[in-house]
Order: sequence, then structure tokens, then C-alpha cells
Amino acid sequence: MAFDSIFSSPLGPPACEKDAKALQFIEEMTQNADAVQQNVLAEILNQNAQTEYLKRFNLDGITDRDTFKSVIPMITYEDLQPLIQRIANGDRSPILSAHPISEFLTSSGTSAGERKLMPTIKEELDRRQLLYSLLMPVMNLYVKGLDKGKGLYFLFVKSETKTPGGLLARPVLTSYYKSEHFKTRPYDPFNVYTSPNEAILCADSFQSMYTQMLCGLYESEQVLRVGAVFASGLLRAIRFLQLNWPQLTHDIRTGSLNTKVTDPAIQECMAQVLRPDPDLADFIAKECAKENWKGIITTIWPNTKYLDVIVTGAMAQYIPTLDYYSGGLPLACTMYASSECYFGLNLTPMSKPSQVSYTIMPNMAYFEFLPHGPNSSKHARKLVDLADVEIGKEYELVITTYSGLCRYRVGDILRVTGFYNSAPQFHFVRRKNVLLSIDSDKTDEAELQKAVENASQILQEFNTSVVEYTSYADTNTIPGHYVMYWELLVKDPTNFPNEKVLSQCCLVMEESLNSVYRQCRVADNSIGPLEIRVVKSGTFEELMDYAISRGASINQYKVPRCVTFTPVMELLDSRVISVHFSPSLPHWTPERRR
Ligand code: AMP
Repeated sequence: MAFDSIFSSPLGPPACEKDAKALQFIEEMTQNADAVQQNVLAEILNQNAQTEYLKRFNLDGITDRDTFKSVIPMITYEDLQPLIQRIANGDRSPILSAHPISEFLTSSGTSAGERKLMPTIKEELDRRQLLYSLLMPVMNLYVKGLDKGKGLYFLFVKSETKTPGGLLARPVLTSYYKSEHFKTRPYDPFNVYTSPNEAILCADSFQSMYTQMLCGLYESEQVLRVGAVFASGLLRAIRFLQLNWPQLTHDIRTGSLNTKVTDPAIQECMAQVLRPDPDLADFIAKECAKENWKGIITTIWPNTKYLDVIVTGAMAQYIPTLDYYSGGLPLACTMYASSECYFGLNLTPMSKPSQVSYTIMPNMAYFEFLPHGPNSSKHARKLVDLADVEIGKEYELVITTYSGLCRYRVGDILRVTGFYNSAPQFHFVRRKNVLLSIDSDKTDEAELQKAVENASQILQEFNTSVVEYTSYADTNTIPGHYVMYWELLVKDPTNFPNEKVLSQCCLVMEESLNSVYRQCRVADNSIGPLEIRVVKSGTFEELMDYAISRGASINQYKVPRCVTFTPVMELLDSRVISVHFSPSLPHWTPERRR
């Protein structure tokens, strides 16, 4: 039966009754964006009226926007850090939220080198679940027949710790996959995964990935979409297949399980899946043995209609590689979210990556927008409401959440591309202050500077210093890695720092970088060893000459601390005199350093 006869959405005819309800919800929220926002703010302020934080501002139960805006300041994580630390240490009084803090979500954004801790409350899980429930109804408008097969999604949990006060601290997706919302989700023919829960929930990343890949290969004909949260995750899975296809095809040929998979829950569930399938094993092995992996995704999973991965923001660097492995399949970016709050979804998920816009759902939190850019004078930097943003303008996202963040700067820069009903749609421009990123790591200029300073201390005994440096995120290899270009001043040429010393510099730099970087290196294996390329003396002067020849002002010229422009990289590479890699992994444990 066609459900468009029951309910037709302006977005398109829904695929089933459940979808119809979801699309109707999107209509209601977006048609009344401003009114919903007003209610959300009143609800949050009512709910949290008795918190220590809000009481500071003497709101006295007032919940209107004007008062809120006039008395509550805009803040950053660092402003809240002392309060968050008290919650982490076990203070259970209502500090930020009237509802008990259920756990901390650890963001990939860092503060003083450690993941930011975002306090959250139980009911937020329902809100996140609600946003997830809207994704397939929208996708079904654009891709038909997704109930006729499965999704191969590479999903992982990461390690969790406890704060001194006993609260769990873990990434938001780990929290979600471990929740009953995910584990006991009702059967939905449009949302069936090849990966068993046991594999997704296994904390050992090798066993988890191995099992998810094995299941995906067994069901290669049924797979209709292939995905991971971020593009880097999907490429990590392809790399895993490159390294492990002989063992995987052995298991498929014999119907046995690699002895490295020792998790009892996985072993038990895989006993139902494993069966000898020599024809499938031969086919996969033949394809994987080929030098050329162009289009491997559609070769192995021939019915794949699209890749479901985020390729906006820092992940855009992976688009050409994904196109290569998939033969140009559509790339669907479905949602925009963070540890602080889930924001919204893409209502036209099959649009090209460069044209992706996310519609912020006004029920998720109270959203404000700080005008951003050269023309936004201090005077004009008044926070703007969701319904009042202007097309073409850029803003920094500021949120007030049910969990107790008030006028909190997320650090994302968004550009308004249009409106759906009265809800604005945003292009994700970039995250502020991020210089280098390979996976979920985000390294800023100050962190890089500190790392160079620490590493160059080793050079002192060689009477050598780093006179200039720049960097780039090399994603030509999987996993990608950080590359540093160093120009050295060697005062005693008879005592030039040798390979051992310079590779040690790579490791010291890695040790100095933030915990998300080090976790990616150590636990996720999603970043390769840091590389230093020593360039000839005078190279950075040439770089300046080049910039000036292209119109840079000689007075204002500053060495870029990160380069992406190909001719500049070619210039630097042509002046390289030696190359050094980090000889071992930096230190990382789930425990925080402070
Ligand atoms: P985290 O707090 O670690 O979950 O990271 C959240 C951040 O990831 C956001 O604030 C964005 O900077 C980035 N992010 C999340 N979703 C997207 C998306 N769809 N496109 C681009 N960047 C995203």
C-alpha cells in the first residue's frame, strides 16, 4: 500500500506509516521553528531554574528570551571547567542541571590536551534517538527498496573510564551503542545491519572490525549501503580488508573463525553465521589479490547504492579516495551532531558533498548564532536566533541544552544556505582553530607550536634549532599522518643531529599532542607515525618569495603553520634533505593525565 494516500509530506511520499509520522514531525518542527525554540528555552530554564549556575544570574523563574539574553553570558568550555570538575569529583548537587548527571560524554575537542567532559542527563538519549529515527524516513524518499537488503556499517565502541566521583566518561557513540535504545532496538526492515551487536560492542578494535568485515563479506549480495560515521572510518575498514583478506577468505572458505577472535559473545553469535562458502571466498580472494583496488566496494558489494559517511568539514579531504574505491557512488552525509548536543539532519542526503546543508531541528536545544567573519564588527556581534539568521552569512553556533550548557560556544562555523519552511539550513564551513586533522583528532596552532618547542629541546645539545616549520595532513596513505617540514639552523656542521635524534623528535612531538591524537595513534590505529621532513636552509625564504609573488604583503607575511596548496607542497618537497618517522607509539591510556 502506498502511504502517500494516508499522509503525503511536502518532502515526498513516505515509504511506510512510520516514515509518514517522522516526516510529519519534521514538518511540524520546521514550520514552527521559532515557536518551538521559544518553548525549548522556556522548558530548559524552568527545568534548570534551581541550578547553581542559573541561580547566579537571578532569573527568578523568568523564561523569556529577552531577559535570558540580557543576563546570561556567552561562554566556552574553559569557563565551565571548574564546575565540570566538581561534578566529575562527585558533587551531586544541581550545579548545571536539575536532572542528575548520568555520565560524561568525552568530546573529540580537547581542553589542555584532554578530551572535554560534557555532562549529560538520561533524557538526552531519547532526544538523540529521536533524531536518529528521522534519518531513514528521509533517505527512503531518495533511495527506494532499502528494506530489501542490509546496511554494512562499521561501528565501534571506545574505551571508557570513571571520573574520581564515579561517573562514566566515554564518547557519545559508545554511550549510544551500549544503551538499550540501540541494543534492543525494534526490528525495522529499513534499518537492518550486517554487523551483529556483539561485534559492535566488542571493545577490542581488531576483533570488532574483523567480525564486522567477515559478516559484511558473507552477506555481500544483501548489502545495499556501506557506511561508517566519518569517511576516515570507512577508509580504515578498506585498509583492514587489504591487510586481512587472506585470513578472512580462509574463514569463509572453511566456515571457521580466526583464532584471534577470542571474545566469547562474538564466537557464540558467529557460530550461527559461519558456513563454508568456497565460491564466495574464491571470488573475494581473486578481487582482493589484484593490484588495482579501483571500485573495490562495488565489486565486492555489487548492490551498494550509496556510501553513508560524513564527508563534510575536515572529512572532505577523503572524497577523492572514497570515489576511487567506490567508483563514484553517491556519498550521503545524513546528520550533524556533537557530544554537547545532536543538532540536525540533511533533508536532501543525496546532494553532492559540496552542497550538503544540515537543517537544525529546533526541538534539540536552544540555538543562537554569533555572526562570524571580517564584516561582523563587535557591535554587530549580537547573537541571532535560529529563525533570524540570514542566507549567505556565516555564524558560530552557540547552544543552550537541557543538560545545562547555557549559551555555550560549540566552535563550529556554519553558513546559511537556505530555509526549509522556517528552519534554516547550514553548510558546515569549518571548526574554529583546527590546523590538522586526520580522524577525530583536532590539532590547533598552539598545540603544534608547543610540540615543536618540546621536540626542539633535544636538538639543543647539537647546537641546532628549528628556525621555521610548517605542516600538512597527509592522507594519501591509509591511515594518514602528520607531516612536519622543518628548516634547521645547525651551528656546528660536524655535529649534525643524526637520524636517531630526528626520529626521536617525531616521537616527542607525538607525546606532546593531545590525547585524542594519541588515542587515534595507539588504540584506533587511525593515524600513522608522525613524519619530519628536513628542508634545505633558505627554503622558508623561498616560500615567502613565492607567497609575495602571488600577492601577499611583505610586511604582513607570516609563515603558514599548515599548508594545503599543491604548488607550495611541491616546492617544500623539492627541498627535502632527509625524512624521519616516529619510531614507536606515543603514550596513551584511557585515564586522563589531569
Ligand atoms: P564530538 O564532540 O567529538 O562528537 O565532535 C563534534 C564535532 O564534529 C562537531 O562540533 C563538528 O565540528 C564535527 N561534526 C559533527 N558532525 C559533522 C558533520 N556532519 N559535518 C562536519 N563536521 C561534523
